[in-house]
Amino acid sequence: MLSGRRYRLELTDDQVVLCETFGDICRSVWNTALEQRREYRRRGGWMNYVPQAAELAEAKRDFPWLSDAPSHVLQQTLRDLDRACREHGTFTVRWRSKARWCPTFRFPAGKLIAVERLGRKWGRAKLPKLGWVRFRWSRPLGGQIRSATVTRRGRHWFVSFLVDDARTTPEKHAMPNTAVGVDRGVKVAATTSDGVFHGRPFATPGEVARLRRLQQKLSRCKRGSNRRKAVVASINAITGRVRNRRADFCAQTAAELTTRNAVVVLEDLRIRNMTASAAGTVDAPGRQVRQKAGLNRAILDKGWHLLELALRNAARTTGTSVVLVPAAYTSQTCNECRHVDPKSRESQASFRCTACGHTAHADVNAAKNILNAAGHAVSGRGDLGIGRSVKRQPPATRTRTGRSPRAARAAGIPVR
Ligand SMILES: [Zn+2]
Repeated sequence: MLSGRRYRLELTDDQVVLCETFGDICRSVWNTALEQRREYRRRGGWMNYVPQAAELAEAKRDFPWLSDAPSHVLQQTLRDLDRACREHGTFTVRWRSKARWCPTFRFPAGKLIAVERLGRKWGRAKLPKLGWVRFRWSRPLGGQIRSATVTRRGRHWFVSFLVDDARTTPEKHAMPNTAVGVDRGVKVAATTSDGVFHGRPFATPGEVARLRRLQQKLSRCKRGSNRRKAVVASINAITGRVRNRRADFCAQTAAELTTRNAVVVLEDLRIRNMTASAAGTVDAPGRQVRQKAGLNRAILDKGWHLLELALRNAARTTGTSVVLVPAAYTSQTCNECRHVDPKSRESQASFRCTACGHTAHADVNAAKNILNAAGHAVSGRGDLGIGRSVKRQPPATRTRTGRSPRAARAAGIPVR
């Protein structure tokens, strides 16, 4: 199984300059090649990887600065562009702007990359043209390297290795006949059909206040000024921390859900459509833009899509299958009598059926409906009621703000 291992690099000043240069060259190769592809499409033709790689080799004679970056890194950029255009369409793929794009480039030949451990905390890797780069040995490599990607996020540079860890996805889950429905909400990130709320605040109140002040400050800065750059850097530092916490939460929740369940059912939210619709077009500006902007923030804030990705990733090691069901009416349907009425949802949190009077937490009710939609009947524990452990505690409705060690151990996750 292929998986990623990311480490924080500790580059020398010369290496930072080199990495920035490689990033700049890759960016201009990407933009030039993308423009060429678009030009071909406008004339009804096609451009693809092989002729572009040949043209790149020729272009090196006229533009010697292209040779400052390793050639297979540039070829890899063309390959990435090729894949992006095939998957998303030539006119949907974006330009890489100097201001918005995080520099990143990939060394595709894993065999050329040597990795050594230097001590308890440090390791080093030999990358073409960069030489030995030191990184924090935060986890074992655990496999054979296929490729290495260097990226800058904010102030720091990272290297991620794609490794083949020789593991395979199990044919059968360790706990067959278990299933759970997950409702992704605005208030609580994820609620499961067994009544557990998975959520934690990703930004502290202090960070939220500071972010608001910084955004006000940013609106008063002149474009292109040094002051603006400093403010943007401070904003990025905070949002970077928030992003890390969100990724950590999604990975932990995904590990817990996939370890305990052979089937995880999610609603198919099409988050991109929901977030993209707010602004509208110049001719028809989106209505309720203000409200939508607030909702967008909340949606992106909870990492709904990230949770799905984390579940799919974690499912590879446990053999869990992740199922998507249509999202329509899951929050308006009564789980007891199947009556559909938007009035049944009294408030954000409470659900009271207008037909049979069944009351439940609105998110738990929705999570049960999601599980039902995949064709699984819900028992009291949210599993199928077969092969359940006698020792397992009956589920209590609780909000988990952090990870309780007992729950973590029960889910098979090592606790430090
Ligand atoms: Zn009902």
